[in-house]
Amino acid sequence: MKYQSTRSSQITTSSARAVLQGLAPDGGLYISALPTFDWEAVLGLDTLSMAERILSYLLPDVENMPQLVQRAYRNRFETEELTPVVPVGDRFVLELFRGPTSAFKDVALSMLPQLITQAKAQEQMEEEILILTATSGDTGKAALAGFRDVPGTKIIVFYPAEGVSAVQKAQMVTQEGSNVCVCAVRGNFDDTQSGVKAIFSAGVPEGCGVRLSSANSINIGRLAPQVVYYFKAYSDLLSRGRIWKGEKVDFVVPTGNFGDILAGYYAKRMGLPVGTLICASNRNDVLTDFLRTGCYDRRRPFHKTLSPSMDILVSSNLERLLYLLCEDCEEVAAYMEQLKTEGFYQVSDTILKKLHEEFAWGCCDDVQTKETIGKVWKEQGYLMDTHTAVAWRVAEGFETEHPLVVLSTASPYKFPAAVLSALGGGVGEDEFAVMNRLNAVTGVPIPLGLRGLEQKPVLHTQVIDREDMQSFVLEKVAVWKE
Ligand SMILES: *Cc1c(COP(=O)(O)O)cnc(C)c1O
Repeated sequence: MKYQSTRSSQITTSSARAVLQGLAPDGGLYISALPTFDWEAVLGLDTLSMAERILSYLLPDVENMPQLVQRAYRNRFETEELTPVVPVGDRFVLELFRGPTSAFKDVALSMLPQLITQAKAQEQMEEEILILTATSGDTGKAALAGFRDVPGTKIIVFYPAEGVSAVQKAQMVTQEGSNVCVCAVRGNFDDTQSGVKAIFSAGVPEGCGVRLSSANSINIGRLAPQVVYYFKAYSDLLSRGRIWKGEKVDFVVPTGNFGDILAGYYAKRMGLPVGTLICASNRNDVLTDFLRTGCYDRRRPFHKTLSPSMDILVSSNLERLLYLLCEDCEEVAAYMEQLKTEGFYQVSDTILKKLHEEFAWGCCDDVQTKETIGKVWKEQGYLMDTHTAVAWRVAEGFETEHPLVVLSTASPYKFPAAVLSALGGGVGEDEFAVMNRLNAVTGVPIPLGLRGLEQKPVLHTQVIDREDMQSFVLEKVAVWKE
């Protein structure tokens, strides 16, 4: 199966190289045709075997998939099934946050390092891979946990000194591992991110022994592992007798960069009986408007919300969906060019019609998000985080005859202040105290990785200016080479 750029059918590569490269050289994303897949054959398999089959199908020339899957997931998640389904009222919650850092990004970022090292070996690449990431919180920690001590890789995570929560910071600065480095940058997230982008454009000198790569969500090696949990959820409902084989199931997905929900669309194209995919946004409602009108318009204010991982104006993975709906590289390239130069684009009527057949959409604000957390806790005894609450709330306005699965992307303990105040609790104490109070009020256990964080030894204390990020990286590379 060949991969090609969404913007040019002339640019092709293997799945292994696509994983190593991340972005195609013309700025497009790597995509492949999705030939027939025997979806019924994976139902009933345990999660790891299911992952093996689906990943081998999506990334056919990455070898050793069984071992890679074992290394990525075995004994690293809270449960062997990785992503459990929990019935809540007449809906189902698919918990994607049972990984080492309590965020859904663990699902993909546990697998990506294994795929990268395998691809690197196959391509006989001698240099080490250096992952550089700017993080506003969750991705950095999940990437650190995934790449920690993976042979042939190093990782440097930059986070904004003013811009991550106390819990997120504690998660990162206590990270162990011989190949990891964490550094704060004075300023906000945009400063940190533009600093990382500048390092990528400048590159590293030949012969320094490393090749730069990002753990970005546009890498096909991050998307592919996410397809698995849609099959897993379907298989679960089937084995519990909640659906018959072939019955359609709807999924509501709290959306930011469009990776999570796109994986659901992949599952559907692979044959899984998926009904409607509901795209849920917070007050940053660029996707709500897009799905309704076909006009993607980033020229709007950016809002900081209680669901920060969805605070996004440009959803990069949407480009893959556009390609899958029109299969016309020139058309996709034209939309992306217009987005870059003018800040918006309008899709064709053909694409819009297809979008309306496959997707539903909605958004809600912080007040509604909190109301939902409080209501679901009171009525169903289920505690959810702010991102999950956005999805739950958006599904409220959606009528369906199909069973409905709500994707839950973070533990409530990753956003303890917002969750506790949604339950009517007073906050204002430090975040760790809030976490303990939330635990005392609800009795819901604190995930292992977040317990006792404030007592763990701090291993990374450096704080630098944005201008010094590049020299910081080069010095670090030199030290590692010795
Ligand atoms: C990243 C993230 C999302 C958004 O997922 P996308 O794949 O970017 O759409 C939602 N919730 C949480 C908690 C996240 O970390």
